[in-house]
This record gives sequence, C-alpha cells and structure tokens, in this order.
Amino acid sequence: MIDTADAIVVNLCSRCGARGMPGPTRCSHCGAAEVRPARVPAVGTVLAATELLAPAAGWPSPHRLALVELEGAVRLLGVAEPNLPSVGARVRVRRDGDVYRVRPTDARGEGETPTAARSPRPFEPPRRKPPLD
Ligand SMILES: [Zn+2]
Repeated sequence: MIDTADAIVVNLCSRCGARGMPGPTRCSHCGAAEVRPARVPAVGTVLAATELLAPAAGWPSPHRLALVELEGAVRLLGVAEPNLPSVGARVRVRRDGDVYRVRPTDARGEGETPTAARSPRPFEPPRRKPPLD
C-alpha cells in the first residue's frame, strides 16, 4: 500500500484499532503484533512549528519543521513549506522519500490562514570565551 495525493499510509492495529506511523511491526498502543497498513486523510492540524537557522548539513536554512496531527490521530514531524505555519493551521502532508512535506491546505475553504513570510535573523554563533592559561 502506498501513499496517494489524498492519503498517507499508517499502521492500523487489528486488535485495538490504534493507528501509528508505518514501520513498527507491533502496535504502539497495546503491543499487539497484528498491525496492517491503512490509509488516513493526508490533511491535519499543526500542533507546533519551529524554524532552525543552523540546520544539520544538507538541509536549507531556514529549516522549518511542523508537528502535525493527521485526521485519524497520527502525529508526524514534517518539513514545513513554504513558510512557518501557525499552530492550529490546517495543512496537507505528502511523503517525499523519507521526508513528510507539510504545506498549507489549498484554497478550498479548509480554514487555512496564510502565514506571512518572516525574514529570519542571520545566524550568530555563540561567543566563545578566550581560553584560560
Ligand atoms: Zn493495538
């Protein structure tokens, strides 16, 4: 089972019905081994978002991350594009290889309020104290 434009594949526990991120072979809620793939809508709500100005190598700066709760109660961390979303914003999620990409929902009246682009401060490394002799 693969993701589609409108759905993300998650794990569904056959015993308790809990949903979780794909990968684990046991239910993260009850521990049952009877998990199978299931699709949930690829839309959700931003629970938290942050912007890294000095991200790990290979990521652009600023690197914006959003914790999203998909409909179906699965939470995931994704790369927010193009701007930092507000907490509570409705977003659409798609998988891009190993990364989930989070964007505002389209203009279909799903409650998205565009976030104004912010101009991040340039990164300033912490000042180092001179070595003691
Ligand atoms: Zn379970």
